Amino acid sequence: MQKVTLKRTGLTVSRIGFGGLPIQRLDDQKAIAVIKRCLNLGVNLIDTANGYTTSEGNIGKAIADYPRDKIVIASKTRARDYKTAKEHIKLSLERLNTDYIDLYELHNVSDLPVLDQILAKDGALSALQEAQQAGIIKHVGISSHGHETALASAKLNCFETLMYPFNFIGHEPGHEVLAACRDNNIDFFAMKPLGGGRLDNSNLAFKYLLNIPDVVPFVGIEKPSEIEEIADIEQNMAPLTPAEQREIQQLRDEIGDRFCRRCRYCLPCPQGIAIPLINNLVTMIQHDSAEDCFGSGMIAKMAEKGRECTECGECEQKCPYDLPIIQMNKDNLALYDKAKAEYDSGL
Ligand code: SF4
Ligand code: SF4
Repeated sequence: MQKVTLKRTGLTVSRIGFGGLPIQRLDDQKAIAVIKRCLNLGVNLIDTANGYTTSEGNIGKAIADYPRDKIVIASKTRARDYKTAKEHIKLSLERLNTDYIDLYELHNVSDLPVLDQILAKDGALSALQEAQQAGIIKHVGISSHGHETALASAKLNCFETLMYPFNFIGHEPGHEVLAACRDNNIDFFAMKPLGGGRLDNSNLAFKYLLNIPDVVPFVGIEKPSEIEEIADIEQNMAPLTPAEQREIQQLRDEIGDRFCRRCRYCLPCPQGIAIPLINNLVTMIQHDSAEDCFGSGMIAKMAEKGRECTECGECEQKCPYDLPIIQMNKDNLALYDKAKAEYDSGL
């Protein structure tokens, strides 16, 4: 796999990074095998998080057989205060079984009050900067799902990298954040290259992103076959053909006006409905266990809660993409009911 040297951090990384969230669902042996398959295919950028349960530990075990200086590890913390962030850094180092972490990020800083919290004198950023001075963190970054917060973060001089959702459907805010990163010399990582499961054409999704030279996408990998397919796309990279560009436009037209970017601006809902998750209900049905979806699990409970919508319209006023959330909730719940009926009847 080709490598690229990032402008701000100077890190030399593979054109595609491994996202370490889905390996939490695997047993240790399978998780380690997936990570090693990625490394053997030339992926040297490994992303994880302190909150991804077994992910850091299994990455630590998998990389033990490889030269440490050839791997770029990115981990992150959801801590907002100095003390917790310091504890998380220590824990990440232990689990990853390493003396240093190449990039440590503040995880999911998606609204402005949280950004203020981490920037405060006793905020989490000060723990990362202290660790950077001690040499145990080489670079400091941030990840965000919030458009406004990502733009504000890019303008600060304290983050060397920024990770933000970016794919060809939700491309307008992604391009804006990318431009802000370029203006401020910040390295940009794309998360959700497949639109959180909405895009099933990997070829189009990765060709689109890889044709932007300063965008490095992270993709969550659960099976060796997934990274094999993506590595193949990367190896045969070429500019998008006119037919592919038309296909992208067609997909944008089909799903763009109903594509939830999970920015969470619509929250809180007075009824406590997890709106971005209801919008993602169909994907969850495809990936999570039947018990979780249709039994007594979290997804089943969330779907039931979704039925308490009073159609007050507060969420639609707050959504920056003008999504018809009330109708989308209804449609998603109807699809859920259909899938449940099929499951109950043994289809
Ligand atoms: S419904 Fe709109 S505001 Fe809510 S998460 Fe999705 S895109 Fe953001
Ligand atoms: S319209 Fe429904 S989902 Fe939206 S804020 Fe009101 S109760 Fe919540």
